[in-house]
Amino acid sequence: MTRKRLINADIVEVNQLFPLKYHWAWEHYLNGNRNHWQPQEVPMGRDVATWKGNELTEDERRVILRNLGFFSTAESLVANNIVLAIFRHVTNPECRQYLLRQAFEEAIHTHCFHYIVESLGLDGEEIFNMHQRVNSIAGKDEFDMGLTAALMDPAFTTETPEGIAVFLENLVGFYVIMEGIFFYSGFAMILSFHRQNRMTGIGQQFQYILRDESTHLNFGIDLINGIVAENPEVWTPALRERLSAKIARAVELEIAYAEDCLPRGILGLNADLFRDYVRHIADRRLERIGLAPRYGAPNPFPWMSEVIDLKKEKNFFETTVTEYQSASALLWD
Ligand code: FE
Ligand code: MN
Repeated sequence: MTRKRLINADIVEVNQLFPLKYHWAWEHYLNGNRNHWQPQEVPMGRDVATWKGNELTEDERRVILRNLGFFSTAESLVANNIVLAIFRHVTNPECRQYLLRQAFEEAIHTHCFHYIVESLGLDGEEIFNMHQRVNSIAGKDEFDMGLTAALMDPAFTTETPEGIAVFLENLVGFYVIMEGIFFYSGFAMILSFHRQNRMTGIGQQFQYILRDESTHLNFGIDLINGIVAENPEVWTPALRERLSAKIARAVELEIAYAEDCLPRGILGLNADLFRDYVRHIADRRLERIGLAPRYGAPNPFPWMSEVIDLKKEKNFFETTVTEYQSASALLWD
């Protein structure tokens, strides 16, 4: 008889995959494997011509550079949090199988920014260092780095209700906030170029990343809700309020980021639209972890929901490596 638990299981259960208990974790793992890709498979020739051919305004270049700067570091923050903070405390083998897959995907995502930097001939140090120079990026990164540090404290344990609450805060901070809110303005900005058939190499890589991130978000939400179901005593009004307030703070940071990326409008985008978009996304995330929505904002980018709703896209994405390599681009609209 298995006594598998998401956290705090007996040590013998950590290495015993069968019988599966959390079929959702195994499904996310299989789904990740079906979507394998590598950055260098995406041709960058047209992007190079556009970037070097003075076809972009200063404001357009700013949006692209800011997003390369943010994502290039954020992907490794997520990877480090999995390996250094989350993995140790998740005691279920099917979840660990997924975490190993996700960690590798984060390496691919970081690799992707290296590949873009090299292709466009950008100053790599400037891009990968931007989190230290640009306040709107530093604000988002620092918000999440503190959550990793809390779990790396040698005294940290999930064996107390307080510890489980801190663990949930980390999971919300990374899966719901970093991967579920902080990534989404950037996705919408870069994919707006792609919709105009410009910078399509970067656009295609962002589509692949977004597809991966949708699965990361879904796994994270299943993990959070699963831990709460197994430890209902920790899900107090005080914790729910703490998490909701954290998401509200993240919304402010993300709106500040969008304002910094878009001091003037481009591509039909402006900071006001992002204010609505970030609030709309935040409400959807709140609902999925059983918290009340806060904003009631409209969705100014309905075209993005095509991709956010992975279920709708699922059949499309269930392609083999050969199939997606031969396709010139993912279908979008
Ligand atoms: Fe990622
Ligand atoms: Mn991710």
